[in-house]
Amino acid sequence: MKYSVGDRIQTKKAHVCGFDEWEVLRIGAEIKIKCVNCSREIMVFKTELDKKVKTVVNIDKK
Ligand SMILES: [Zn+2]
Repeated sequence: MKYSVGDRIQTKKAHVCGFDEWEVLRIGAEIKIKCVNCSREIMVFKTELDKKVKTVVNIDKK
C-alpha cells in the first residue's frame, strides 16, 4: 500500500475509542497516524500498517 500525508485510512480493527478512521500525519521509517475521532497519535511501521489497513482514502484524488 502507498500512503501520503493527509490520506485517510480505514483499519480492519477499530481504535479503542470505537472509530476506525485515521489520518496520515508523517511518512518515514515509521508512519504517524492520528485517530480522526479522538486525535490520539500513534507511530507504526509500514509493514505493520499494511496488515491493519482495509482502505486508503486518498484525499488528493477526488
Ligand atoms: Zn480513537
